[in-house]
Amino acid sequence: MAYEALYTRGRPKTLSQLVGQEHISNALARAVSSNRLSHAYLLVGTRGTGKTSTARLLSKAMNCDKVHEAQAAGRPLDKKEIPCNKCDACKNFDSSPDNVEFDAASNRSVEDVTRLLSTAYLAPLRARVKTFIIDEVHMLSFEAVNSILKLIEEPPPNVAFFLATTEINKVPMTIRSRCQVLNFRLIPQMTIAPYLLTLARRLNVSLQEEAAKKIARLAEGSMRDALTYLDQCYAMADKEITLQNVNETLGLISDESLDEIISAVRAKDRAAVGKAITRAFRSGLAANAIAESLITRLRDIEFEMLNRGEKNFSEFDNLIDGLRKATGEMYGSGIPDIILEMTLMKLAAPVQNFVAPIAAVQTSAPSENLDAGKKIFYDTLEVLNRENKFSAASVDKAVVTNFSGDVLTLAFKSSIMVGLFEQQHKQQFEQEVSRVAGRTIKISAVVNENLPPPVLNKLPEPDRSNLDVAMKIFHASDAVKIND
Ligand SMILES: [Zn+2]
Repeated sequence: MAYEALYTRGRPKTLSQLVGQEHISNALARAVSSNRLSHAYLLVGTRGTGKTSTARLLSKAMNCDKVHEAQAAGRPLDKKEIPCNKCDACKNFDSSPDNVEFDAASNRSVEDVTRLLSTAYLAPLRARVKTFIIDEVHMLSFEAVNSILKLIEEPPPNVAFFLATTEINKVPMTIRSRCQVLNFRLIPQMTIAPYLLTLARRLNVSLQEEAAKKIARLAEGSMRDALTYLDQCYAMADKEITLQNVNETLGLISDESLDEIISAVRAKDRAAVGKAITRAFRSGLAANAIAESLITRLRDIEFEMLNRGEKNFSEFDNLIDGLRKATGEMYGSGIPDIILEMTLMKLAAPVQNFVAPIAAVQTSAPSENLDAGKKIFYDTLEVLNRENKFSAASVDKAVVTNFSGDVLTLAFKSSIMVGLFEQQHKQQFEQEVSRVAGRTIKISAVVNENLPPPVLNKLPEPDRSNLDVAMKIFHASDAVKIND
């Protein structure tokens, strides 16, 4: 026997089975009961939220003998009875020539679409109502839209239109204003997971609760995606669909592996970071997928911290920020693995060596020294700026916090910036500072998250670069380095 996909078997058979769209199923049940259905519906919502399923249920209900009997008798119908699925009309619905379905996004020719629409003027062959279900209606040609508009404005008898779209803003206002609009919501995870468990029980499929939750999270509001994922896992699972099955089948990295990487980065243990990321790569996961999973995991950790009443997220924010930038660079790059590895290594840069208690340093430093240090610093920036040397962009957010002997201390807002400065531009900047000062000056870079905004007015305004530009230059120079 051919395997029937869970996705097909999980499709709602009555309005009562339409999951997560109760506002729509309730309203439609009332409309069916009181025989007040419209001849044109516009079903709006993201993919997999039940638009086509609803259109099919209504098409079927418009032709269902039992529904018509109830309507004639003035008996209100329960959502479970819409449609009945037992009468001849219901049984023959799937093969009915009177139900026309097509996807406007597919490559149908204009002539083809026009021919299909022209059949609306012919009486139904067997059914009571001829129904047209058109997916992605915003993709239709101008001619087709005009044909539909004409059909909706002066509808032939016994015809109903169900126009579905994921992009309502691309549907002409003339169509929108003539249809009854049904807005489909994203289906919450806490609705999808229990539904998957119920469906699995009904179909005698063993499904772990943790696995159902993971699938629900991945589906991002789409029941169709959830059922497709479940299908894939079911095909690969042995007796029971476990969290491990889900991770392996869908090419996901486990939370344990993610935590291992995150712990190593936080511990500034670069050797451990290297090992953890190599293990992740060896299991065949793509760098993009790993980076995105890390971001999701970090966000989950922040939520957990928030729930515990903790407030200091700066460390995690820094990690998310670094990974977010890396994912941007990975797309279209031929070396996503290396970009991810380098990013994690940078995030794991040992910063504690040069974290200095700023306040303590300041009190012990004579202020005239600090002023001299600031003068050298800004003079150097001005020289770099004038000579159009890029390293100015990387240090101009730094603040001079100490200058004693031959050591100029620069504070940066984050450890990432310190790490980047140390790796990329410190040496060159030391040379430039020494050149300006006329003697050898060493730079010490420190982190101070509570930095006051840097004094910016010392430099000519037009040439100033913002942090984004600075980061871009940093990253661009990384890429060059990697290619070497
Ligand atoms: Zn029926």
